Amino acid sequence: MKKWLALFVGFLLFVGCTQNPYTHRNQLILISPTQEIQMGLQAERQILQKARVSHNPRYNAMVKRVASRIARVAEEEFHPGYKWEFYVLDSPQINAFCLPGGKIFVYTGLLKLVQNDDQLATVIGHEVAHAILRHGSERVSMGMLGQMGKELLAKGLQMSGSRWGPLFDLAYGVGTKYGILYPYSRKFEYEADQLGLYLMYKACYNPYEAIKFWHRMMRAAKAKVPEFLSTHPSDIHRIEALRRYIRRLMRIPRRC
Ligand SMILES: [Zn+2]
Repeated sequence: MKKWLALFVGFLLFVGCTQNPYTHRNQLILISPTQEIQMGLQAERQILQKARVSHNPRYNAMVKRVASRIARVAEEEFHPGYKWEFYVLDSPQINAFCLPGGKIFVYTGLLKLVQNDDQLATVIGHEVAHAILRHGSERVSMGMLGQMGKELLAKGLQMSGSRWGPLFDLAYGVGTKYGILYPYSRKFEYEADQLGLYLMYKACYNPYEAIKFWHRMMRAAKAKVPEFLSTHPSDIHRIEALRRYIRRLMRIPRRC
């Protein structure tokens, strides 16, 4: 039985392993892009049923302005084929996320903290980067693999798509009070920082505002740990890495 299980897991690793076209890192993803977008749409509906959507005209205009510019660059350069939509949620949480399929959610708590469009572009660029890099699905796939191992031993394989719904919800924090629950690994964070900065830079935002934003978040964290920061641990190493990316970015031509 154990040997059979090892063979099966090996097979999954073989079929599920793809090289990410942007990072060139091998990723284990057992969910197809179509399935992933479908799950994103389902999650979007769930969130809109439960959460309070803000109608604050200033916040909505700001999110639409910034997110649509980031989304345009993402589509032009990476072609995810998303149907982009932007929402402001009325909540004191300092948080934002992007679901596969291009559904961006920003909390009013975060909008109170950012000082300008460039700082908001830092957050949106980062979250869009997680979606394009398929980090959520990679995490769900790891969970699937772990759970599959357990279940296979117990009662054999009887998969149904909806069974992975709860895992997806956990990975994206859908329906939880705290937004995105599980922090991405440091590796994912660095990847999203790098691609996020590229997106904001190409969308004609000032990438140096990202440094100011993260310093601001670090200061805010001293008073009270904001949700976005608890899943996006910010430290001096991260900020140093951002500075290095920015120096490289500035050599890339852009039309603004
Ligand atoms: Zn992140």
